[in-house]
Amino acid sequence: MFSLRAQPAILCGSVLVPMRACSKGIGAILCAVCALAWGGCVVAPRQPESDLAAAYRTLSGKRFVDLTHSFGPDSPVWWGFGQAKLRPAANPRTGEPYTIAKDGFRATYYEMVGQYGTHVDPPAHFSRTGTTMDRIPLKQMILPLVVLDSTPYLKKEPNHAFSVRDLLAWEKNNGRVPAGSFVALRTDMSKDWGNPQKFKRSPFPAWAFETIKFLYTERGVVATGHESLDTDTSEKLLSETWLLKHGHYQIEAMANLDKVPAKGALIVVTWPKVKNGLGFPARAFAILP
Ligand SMILES: [Zn+2]
Repeated sequence: MFSLRAQPAILCGSVLVPMRACSKGIGAILCAVCALAWGGCVVAPRQPESDLAAAYRTLSGKRFVDLTHSFGPDSPVWWGFGQAKLRPAANPRTGEPYTIAKDGFRATYYEMVGQYGTHVDPPAHFSRTGTTMDRIPLKQMILPLVVLDSTPYLKKEPNHAFSVRDLLAWEKNNGRVPAGSFVALRTDMSKDWGNPQKFKRSPFPAWAFETIKFLYTERGVVATGHESLDTDTSEKLLSETWLLKHGHYQIEAMANLDKVPAKGALIVVTWPKVKNGLGFPARAFAILP
């Protein structure tokens, strides 16, 4: 059985016997034979645990929170893209859908826009020369996660745009937003995901354009995300245009940000590697501190 902790062991010829096994049963006999045959046993040094193995042991003991909605044909989407269509994949020669009973397998044929469900918008979504989703560096897909909570402001003003002032107030309590992080805006809009008409309301709680610019230029964050289908409520989509044209990606329609602390978590966000892809449903999750 694989063990992350290396155990002290005795090397008997080509056989490695754990030291604690030498005291009983077959292990004891093997050790005795070994001592006679080789004139003694060589004690193998304890293998130090690699820093990656130690990091994995740490991570695997943490709580994970899914930041992704399940999506289907009825999920909220911008009217201009239309609803997804999902149907059983069929044999193109016969038109017959594959079934487990008949073919031993089944598959789904998806017809939908890339910007569907919880999704990634790569820079190329808004920029002719921007990075496509297959070229976003892998190291930008696991980042420290900062969650800004807009919900206290929404009690007084339900469509509040999270301002630089709000951000500075957050920093007073939590410290400076670290460079290189992913910053998500919590609004609890995600709780309306199952009610598409309500979810797609406009106006809605969002980012203020100035805050988006401030986070990227003054704090050096890598990416941002939010619960709504748009970054801000401006007619010309100022925030989304600006951040994508400045080489950053965003995640839209995020879920469960109310279950993640303001700082200290990590986000892992992944998507399929569509060649020259302009956006796709993403899978994002947080690893809690
Ligand atoms: Zn989008």
